[in-house]
Amino acid sequence: MRGNGWAMSNAPVPLSPSAPLRLFNSLTRQLEPFQPVHEGEARVYSCGPTVYNYPHIGNMRAYVFADILGRTLSFKGYKLTHVINITDVGHLTDDADAGEDKMEKMAQAEARSIWDIAQHYTQAYWEDIKALNIRQPARWTIATEFVPQMIAFAERIADTHCYELDSGLYFDVSTVADYGRLARAQTEDGEGRIEAVEGKRNAADFAIWRKTPAGEKRQMEWDSPWGKGAPGWHLECSVMSGEVLGFPFDIHTGGIDHREIHHPNEIAQNQAFCCAGGLDLPANSGARVWMHNNFLVERSGKMSKSSGEFLRLQLLIDKGFHPLGYRMMCLQAHYRSELEFSWDGLTAALTRLKRMLIAVGQSKERAGEGEAQPGLRFTPFLERFDAAVSDDLNTPVALTVFEEVLALKKVDPAEKLAALAAMDAVLGLGLLTLERAALRLRPKGVEIEDAEIEATLEARKAARAEKDFARSDALRDELATKGVDVMDGDPLGWEWKLG
Ligand code: AMP
Ligand code: ZN
Repeated sequence: MRGNGWAMSNAPVPLSPSAPLRLFNSLTRQLEPFQPVHEGEARVYSCGPTVYNYPHIGNMRAYVFADILGRTLSFKGYKLTHVINITDVGHLTDDADAGEDKMEKMAQAEARSIWDIAQHYTQAYWEDIKALNIRQPARWTIATEFVPQMIAFAERIADTHCYELDSGLYFDVSTVADYGRLARAQTEDGEGRIEAVEGKRNAADFAIWRKTPAGEKRQMEWDSPWGKGAPGWHLECSVMSGEVLGFPFDIHTGGIDHREIHHPNEIAQNQAFCCAGGLDLPANSGARVWMHNNFLVERSGKMSKSSGEFLRLQLLIDKGFHPLGYRMMCLQAHYRSELEFSWDGLTAALTRLKRMLIAVGQSKERAGEGEAQPGLRFTPFLERFDAAVSDDLNTPVALTVFEEVLALKKVDPAEKLAALAAMDAVLGLGLLTLERAALRLRPKGVEIEDAEIEATLEARKAARAEKDFARSDALRDELATKGVDVMDGDPLGWEWKLG
């Protein structure tokens, strides 16, 4: 069995991931040992996309991070229930509760129904999820499917924590203890960044139900005790997380921007809903641990969908970069560090992935040849890998342990592959199944077929054998005009690349 003999092997994975799992809790700004609410389980909610546009690769970093968290929890033996929501209503153009509904605005701009828009961009997001090897969560919750529950949640807290204005039902942040502690902000800090609404009691108060203005009709609106309207974005996440996972659940994730407004507002609602106690009671903030990934940035600053080159995953693919090269790029940085995107950085990440694949391929061949050389045990390496991911998901270190194992010589290849497979179950790079050839993507606009490239290269080889260097150079130039770079002596064994 050449090639995949390892798959037939019964080599046990010599591993019991027993390193203590410590995660950085944004609520306390500290590393904390993970203590599940329910013995042996991990319940995780990740704020998902607002499906009014394609996600950019910065958004996708948030889901690669959540995926690594989920995979680590599974690796550590917890029964994982992961929920990601799809926001198809209620997220305004300004996170601080001002502006227009992003979905309504896009629907008008594209002259399509909101439902069409939502369906199209949800599908596009799911394609990116798949391309990045992000595991499916146990459930995708769709905001518009939870509106009755949102109304019920709002009704329960309305009398004690809310007040009504012409524009909607507002949450009074002074009615809960420690409002904004997650953001480490004083309530007054909100003044400048939150649009003034006449009648608001505190600058940071936010609408949990937005009434449709008199005389207007929105594409998405529902009847409620406060009139026709739509739920606020913060309410949606409180309701979907609490409904599906039950308060308190274990971990709530999102990008670092959510630490400032969206999550403090969710926490305030959860406190109001759970009981009147202070924030120190873990049960009252909804989730015990709040985790945030830092941003992917461009050299010029914040990544945006509207300025410069819109960095969608599809753009990377169109330029010939395999999406898992981007996953590798994310894993090379710690999730709490800012990561600067550059094409050179992406190229380097992809090269690292190629090198790994070549080495895995060689191990598979050895395993297929039945070359068994027992001796070295893998346990110390797996323990170090376990320690790395258990240390607040330290994927940069975990990757180096993976490479150390790859480089081991004179070991039982089947055991080696079993160890690599155990580690890749966390890294999610698909290293044991991905074909090296699959990494070569065809950039958009390159017409030449692989067969023509191979034939020209054969002709070039023949010319060189005959020492006809003029013809060899001419063939090389001919390929170059068609977008093919010939890579003589490439250490990674790629004879050519498109680009
Ligand atoms: P949105 O669709 O805007 O709600 O964003 C989806 C997720 O991406 C949220 O968790 C954001 O916090 C996160 N996010 C937004 N921009 C970036 C970025 N540049 N880098 C990493 N995460 C981001
Ligand atoms: Zn959310």
